[in-house]
Parts: sequence; structure tokens; C-alpha cells
Amino acid sequence: MSQYFSFDLQAQDGRARAGLFRTPHGDLQTPVFAPVGTQATVKSLTPSHLDEVGASLVLANTYHLYLRPGDDLIAEVGGLHEFMQWPRPILTDSGGFQVFSLGGINQIDDEGVTFKSHVDGSTHRLTPEKSIAIQENLGADIIMAFDECAEPYDRVYNQRAMQRTHAWAERCLNAKTRHDQALFGIVQGGIFPDLRAESARFIASLDFPGNAIGGLSVGETKEAMHAILEVVDPLLPEDKPRYLMGVGTPEDLINGVMRGVDIFDCVLPTRLARHKAAFTSRGRVNVSKAENARSTRPIDEACDCYTCSNFSRAYLRHLIAAKEMLASTLLSIHNIYALIRIAKEMREAIFEGQFSAYAARVLHELA
Ligand SMILES: [Zn+2]
Repeated sequence: MSQYFSFDLQAQDGRARAGLFRTPHGDLQTPVFAPVGTQATVKSLTPSHLDEVGASLVLANTYHLYLRPGDDLIAEVGGLHEFMQWPRPILTDSGGFQVFSLGGINQIDDEGVTFKSHVDGSTHRLTPEKSIAIQENLGADIIMAFDECAEPYDRVYNQRAMQRTHAWAERCLNAKTRHDQALFGIVQGGIFPDLRAESARFIASLDFPGNAIGGLSVGETKEAMHAILEVVDPLLPEDKPRYLMGVGTPEDLINGVMRGVDIFDCVLPTRLARHKAAFTSRGRVNVSKAENARSTRPIDEACDCYTCSNFSRAYLRHLIAAKEMLASTLLSIHNIYALIRIAKEMREAIFEGQFSAYAARVLHELA
């Protein structure tokens, strides 16, 4: 791929893939789940905690860091790895998704997007070239093309947004100057199989070192998401990593890998932690429920994370009731570990040719 990046497909079982993606800040063993550090921090966790849960890739949000503290400032103090003291691979998104979901949009045209900051109301303009310049200042290993995210069920809008996303993908490639960053293209097209196929073919033709599937997990049904993955999977190059953006329940990870996905990210594990909820191998639980008041059991008996190895549901419920910060930390450790563990177990199952059996068993237990 280049002197900085390579992707080796190490094993395949059905459509499920195990690979090794080399980046300047270390190797990613895929399938891999990336926790999200929107503001250059995975909420309530230190880099040591991330180490302990086995995180290898962290996502940071371009939109937020551009507005505050500013990408120039981050470049000046040594880049994102140095700034947040995370020495392993980082991925930044393009800012596109947040502009469309958080920014007050003033204008979208073929050149770019003008929006109002959700922080202070100031007006900004993001273009493909600007997004790449910001991501080059931030210095992540994997950076993303600037795309337009449309409401998934509006066909006319999705067609227009897809065409714009394609034109912007070419402009991102032309704007890129750093060789130590891998720029991934993004497939759009809403829930429409023909648009998705057209988008996958076009994005694949641009020969990005990796390809992403955007615009999913934004309100469409699980069936629609799975159908789109089945359309896109055979059209993307086999020898490059595939990244399903913003997707991350245990079920989603398994269903994604089953359909050829290698990389995932999601805010869900830390967001659930702040809402007192936890993943378990038998589905989601709410730790603050009265039934946990005297429970000496861990969140999940099948989990060997730091939280489950040491703390009872009774203690966690007390921390939540007392509004102690440690509650978020301990629940986040568990929730992120749960997803990273599933990714690791899937990888092992793929090497052993046991992926289908593994997926069927875990999905059955979660249901
Ligand atoms: Zn645990």
C-alpha cells in the first residue's frame, strides 16, 4: 500500500475477515472496535484505562477539535497523539457528519458547507480541502473523506448527496499532502441498494487505502442496514480494510463482520455508561435498578474486565445513586471491554473456521 500502511488479509471464514492493518503508530488486528474520544478524550477514561481494556484504535472528532481548541493549536503542541497522550493509532472523521447533525446549517452547495458552531454560534465553512487540512493538522493515522450525510429514506436527496460525496472524495484525494496518513473514501446512498452499489463502485475506483460505509445506523432498520452491507461488501476491494462508521452494539459488530466489515467505532459504550446501562452476554442491563441494591454479582459473570473482576452491582448502583464520577469510569471500562472482547473472539473464531457457530451462539444469547 505504502511504506507507512499495509493490509494483510490473514484469514477468511464465509464473508468474515481477519486482517492486520499496519499504521505509523502500530498494528491493528481486525476485526477491531474503536472507542470514540470526541474531544480528544474517551469520556471518563485515561489512556491507561484504554490500554487495560485492550483498545488499539481511538476515534476523535474533527468538527469538535476544529472548533475547540482548534487544529492549529493541536498541531503547534505536537499533534493529536502527543496532545491526548495516546501513542497508538487514531482515526479522525471528516467533520461532515457533525456539521449535518450538530451545526446549524446555513448553506450546502457543491463547494462545501457553511454552518454555525454549536459552541458559540460563530459561522464557519467546511470544504473537502479544509477538512483535509484540519485532519492533517490533527495528525491521525486514518483520516476520512468529507462527505454529505443525507436522511437515509429520501431518495432524491440521497442521490444528490451521493454525487456530491463522490466529487468531494476526488477533491480530498487531490488536497492530501501527508504520506503518513491513510485517507479512506466513504460509500453513501442511504437505504437504496442501486445507489449504494453505484457509490461502492465509484469509491472503490478511486483506490483509497481503505473504504468506509457511511450513513448507516442513523435511524434505518437493522434489516435495511444488513441489506446495504450485503450490496456493498462484494463491490469493495478485498485487499483493503472496510470500516462501518458509527456502528457498535454487540449484535451490530457480529452482523457487520458476518458481512465483510473490519473496523467499527461507536459512542454507545461510553454513552450507555453515562446512562447507567451495561452490555452483558445476555443483553443490556440497567445497573441502577432496585433489584441490584444488594447484589454481590458483577455486571456480567462471563466478563473478566477490571470492573467485573472487582466490583459488585450493589457498589456500582451506590456510585450511580451518589452521582460519583467513578460510576461512569467503571461502566465505561466494562462496556468498551465487552465490545473489544467480542472483536477479539470473532477474530479467533475466523482463524479457527468457527465464525458461523460463534456468531449464532452469541446472537442467540444476546436475544
Ligand atoms: Zn466487565
